[in-house]
Amino acid sequence: MSSKSGKVFLVGAGPGDPDLLTVRAMKTIESCDLILYDHLVSELIRELFPTGTPAIYVGKCKERHSIAQEDLNELLVKWSRQSKCIARLKGGDPFVFGRGSEEMLALRSAGVEVEVIPGITSASGCSTYAGFPLTHRGLATGCTLVTAHTRNGENPNWGALAALDHTLVFYMGLTKALDISMGLLKAGMSQDTPVAIVENGCRVDQRTLVSTLCHLPSTVIEENVKSPALIVVGDVVSLRDTLISSGRSWAGDDTDLMTAIGQ
Ligand code: SAH
Repeated sequence: MSSKSGKVFLVGAGPGDPDLLTVRAMKTIESCDLILYDHLVSELIRELFPTGTPAIYVGKCKERHSIAQEDLNELLVKWSRQSKCIARLKGGDPFVFGRGSEEMLALRSAGVEVEVIPGITSASGCSTYAGFPLTHRGLATGCTLVTAHTRNGENPNWGALAALDHTLVFYMGLTKALDISMGLLKAGMSQDTPVAIVENGCRVDQRTLVSTLCHLPSTVIEENVKSPALIVVGDVVSLRDTLISSGRSWAGDDTDLMTAIGQ
């Protein structure tokens, strides 16, 4: 059965700037015979799709409901029977909150060959493009990637997160800004802990807002922050001012980003 199927590549497309695609991702995009992409794959990346290759949007349907993951898995299996090589593009890295492993399991159990091409995850891309690191000696002994949306709706273990002395990066955190703030404050983190909100990171319309743990929820509301946005909590954010003024303009303010990606 598997010999009749094509191969599916789960390709990490990075956070948005086409220059952050890996060479491997680009080669796969150029050589596949079908592209499937989701809502996090930026417009500038979509412009790189070869004009002769069919590209299907599998993020959200017209009514803006997500295609159920199970239905998508079935479609992937079906399409793999009809194509030699499918590039299934996902924002960031397929294995970081990208449900790549779920798709991989479904394809494997249907006998379809699958390979994952890692991408730059948004934590890495957004922090760098916003002008601060994820770790820094003396400021954070590590970095923890957290989803603010769990399958069963449970909260993260705020006490454990607060005790880590890590930079905390919240994916899908916008609607949970109040929970994040309250949870970490109650767990003993300082109300002045710096927080960065990076909206549309590594894209032409990137916006970086710097706030504090205490003011995070009001900043999200007052600034009308839109998805996709990443919430980064930790002292590393305070390095932003120094690093931006140190001359690496591509990681500087957001106008410089546009220059950096040729806009
Ligand atoms: N696999 C992706 C994450 C998918 S979960 C990755 O590795 O980055 C979706 C969440 O990722 C969004 O809600 C947002 O929190 C974050 N995200 C993805 N791309 C982003 C971008 N360009 N700017 C800001 N946040 C982004």
